[in-house]
This record gives sequence, structure tokens and C-alpha cells, in this order.
Amino acid sequence: MTATTAASAAYIVAGLLFVLSLAGLSRHETAKTGNAYGMAGMAIALVATIGLAWRNGDALSVGLIVVAMVLGASIGLWRARIVEMTGMPELIALLHSFVGLAAVLVGWNGYLSVEGAPAGEAEELGLPVGIHSAEVAIGVFIGAVTFTGSIVAFLKLSGRIKSNPLVLPGKNALNLGALAVFAALTVVFVVSPGLGVLSGLTVLALALGWHLVASIGGGDMPVVVSMLNSYSGWAAAASGFLLDNDLLIITGALVGSSGAYLSYIMCQAMNRSFLSVIAGGFGNEGSTSAAAVDGEHTEISAEEVAQLLRDADSVVITPGYGMAVAHAQSAVADLTRTLTDKGVEVRFGIHPVAGRLPGHMNVLLAEAKVPYDVVLEMDEINDDFAKTSVVLVIGANDTVNPSAADPGSPIAGMPVLHVWEAEHVVVFKRSMSTGYAGVQNPLFFRENTRMLFGDARERVEDILRAL
Ligand code: NDP
Repeated sequence: MTATTAASAAYIVAGLLFVLSLAGLSRHETAKTGNAYGMAGMAIALVATIGLAWRNGDALSVGLIVVAMVLGASIGLWRARIVEMTGMPELIALLHSFVGLAAVLVGWNGYLSVEGAPAGEAEELGLPVGIHSAEVAIGVFIGAVTFTGSIVAFLKLSGRIKSNPLVLPGKNALNLGALAVFAALTVVFVVSPGLGVLSGLTVLALALGWHLVASIGGGDMPVVVSMLNSYSGWAAAASGFLLDNDLLIITGALVGSSGAYLSYIMCQAMNRSFLSVIAGGFGNEGSTSAAAVDGEHTEISAEEVAQLLRDADSVVITPGYGMAVAHAQSAVADLTRTLTDKGVEVRFGIHPVAGRLPGHMNVLLAEAKVPYDVVLEMDEINDDFAKTSVVLVIGANDTVNPSAADPGSPIAGMPVLHVWEAEHVVVFKRSMSTGYAGVQNPLFFRENTRMLFGDARERVEDILRAL
């Protein structure tokens, strides 16, 4: 068996392990095993790739791979150790930008070593040069869109720039025009692969990636994160074609298609058009700011909330991003146990985009050992609010905003948790400021709503003491 055949066999095993990994990650109960499959697949892929370089007698390549791995692994381990759970989405967005940048560099390297190389070298290539040029153009395009798109997502998610959508005049025409120019430049590049054309195509794709994500508003960012995940997969697959590496093609396609499917599911959950979101909010040139909401809010103390809870038959907790910031999940789990011991029915209502990454709240609650069977999805609990004595909105805002029913609102149409239908609603937050989408929340001014100001963990602990 030659080294290449052995590597191909190892790549097939790794590819299968990645498929098993994705299957495992689709359920709470099997997620750990799914992770283990993924790690095993990646270990096999790395050993096969390094082994192949070694057997080909290329000591320099092996040396470079080892140096790159040591550097990358050290930075990766350090970042993973210090990152807060709430900082994960921005870290993921940044990592997607590296995949995009790598695809651009692989594309440019392909150009410089074939089309841009001195005459004669191009003929050494097995493929017709035209196909190679098309691969370069497509790889550079997807990579560059992913690169700048991910950087804008990182800036928005980390709060370094505003999450409001950028609305340039004729933004849809700009996006469609950029796609048409890309198609034309690709044809020109295939016919006559020149440095100028590839440079123009790269700049165009960088600008398009920036504009696509900048045009999407805060409320749609969850879909953008999973969409960029998908783009990074396609960018890796494009690099796989250029590098003639089957595993990169398989892995890229798995990431690309699973990311696209996740984006589709999230669009359905948020009542958004998938095509509109991937086209940078296409067709949505409407409102970007909601009407101002005025009114008087009423405050409540932790002791009074404890009394409400003592008298309640049923309680629903709807956690959001603020619970994650406050690290309140353990205190919330203690409150759940205390109330359950007193005979109060306690359940959780989880909005599909609560927090800052898909499944954020489920992960925090599982970490705090809240039983899975009391943690319900939005659709499972929404009809029960009218029969609920007390709803505790812990650090959630956009996901419980009734103005989603207002067609002029930037979050119009997004399904939300109908917490206001309960007898009493207590909102835990530190101030009257808006949520991630920047939209004021009329829930705070409703007659049955009370505001409990302060850090969510401290307030939950105050309630526990009072109970
Ligand atoms: P929001 O981001 O809408 O609101 C969180 C609230 O928590 C804020 O109003 C804030 O108010 C409060 N808060 C912050 N820190 C604390 C603290 N220490 N103690 C108490 N309260 C605190 O949260 P939701 O979870 O309701 O909505 C998620 C939003 O994020 C949606 O718009 C969603 O589209 C978006 N998003 C979701 C992603 C995902 O994949 N899940 C990814 C990217 C964006 P105050 O400052 O007054 O305390």
C-alpha cells in the first residue's frame, strides 16, 4: 500500500467519523459522544496529512506543519481557556474569518504557482488550466466574502460597532450587481487569467462580504453566525479542490451544508426568509427603528417577589443573555429546586435565539443541572403562559418583546415568548436599556409587569434568602 492510498483510506475513516460527530451533536444526550467522534476524526486526519508529507520526503513541509500547529494550538488553547461563554459567538466569528482568509491565500497561491508562473509550468498541471482558473476565482470569492463578513460579525457581536443594519440606498441592487460583476470577472479570468482581474475580484468580494453582514440587523445576527459557519465550510471545500485534498472537500461540504441547514432552521424559528437573510436582508429596506415607547414602570423588591412565588401555583422562567452575563444559572437552578420542594410547578421557556449562540440557554441550564424535562421550547410553552401565576424574565429582552407584533418594528414578525399573558411578570435587569436588537420593550410598562433591577444573580440569591 502506498502512502497516498493509506492517507486516502485514513481520510475516508476521518470523513465517516465527522458524519457520526454531526449526528451525535444533534441531541443533548449524544452530544458528548459526537464530540469524541469529531476529535478522533481530526486526530486521524492530522496524522495522515503529516504522515503523507513525511513519506513524500518533504522535511520542510513537516517542519512548517509542526511549527504552525504548535503556534496555532497554543493560541487556540489560551483563547479557549479564557473565553467567557458569552464571548463564544464573537470568537467563532473571528475563527470563521481565518478560514475565509486561508481560502483567499490558497486561491492566490494557486494562481501564483500555475497561471501566474513562468510559461511552461502551467502545462504540468493535470487539469485544463481553465478549470483551475475557475477554482481559483470561486475559492478566492467565497473566502473573501467569508473573511470580511466574519470580521463585521465579530465587530457587531463584540459591541465594537453598532448592531443596527446599514441601509445604503439601493442596497439590494448593490448586492445583485456585485454578484453579476463577479460572474463576469470569473469568465474573463478563465479566458485570460491576469493579475489585475484576480485583484479586482478579490476587492469586490471583500466589499460584498462587508456589505452583506453590515446590512443585517441585530435581531438577525444568530442566522448570520450560522450562515458564516456555512460559508466557511464552502470556502474550505473550494480550497480542497485547489489543493487536491479529498478530506478538505468532504469536511468543507459537511460544515457548509450543516451550517446552511442550521441557518434555515433558525430562519424558520424567527419567521424570516432564508433567501432574504443570506442576501443581506434582501427585500427588507423597511423600518430600522421602532416607535419610541413611553410609560411608567413599576419596581418590586426581592422580598416581594419571594412572596409572589410562595403564593404561586405555577412559575415559568424565561432566561436570556443577561442570565449568562450574570452567571446566574446556578442560583436559578437552586431557586427551581427550592420552589419545586415547596410544591410549586417550575418550568423554563427557551426562545430559539435567546442568548448569543444557538442552544446558549440549554447549555447553561444543563451545566447547572436543571433537569431536561422542565426545559421547554418556545412552541411547547407559549400556550401555557395564560395559565401561569408568575413569569420570571431573567436577563431576557428581545425574546419577550411584544412589539414583534408591530409591523413597523425592526423585529416585526419574530415569534416571541408571550410572557405578558401570565398573571404576574417580573423582569430582572439592571436598567431600562434595550436588548441586542436596540428596540424598546413595551412589556416593561404593562400593568402586570414589575421590574426587579440589579445583577440577575444577586437578585435571585436575594429571593432565595427571602424564601
Ligand atoms: P437581549 O440581548 O435582548 O437582552 C438581554 C438583557 O439582559 C438586556 O436587556 C440587559 O439589560 C440584561 N442584562 C445584561 N446583563 C445583565 C445582568 N448582569 N443582570 C441582569 N440583566 C442583565 O437578550 P435575549 O436573550 O432576550 O435576546 C437575544 C438577542 O440576541 C436577540 O436579539 C437575538 O437575535 C440576538 N442574538 C442571538 C444569537 C443566538 O444565536 N442566540 C446570536 C447573536 C445575536 P440591562 O443592560 O438593563 O441589564
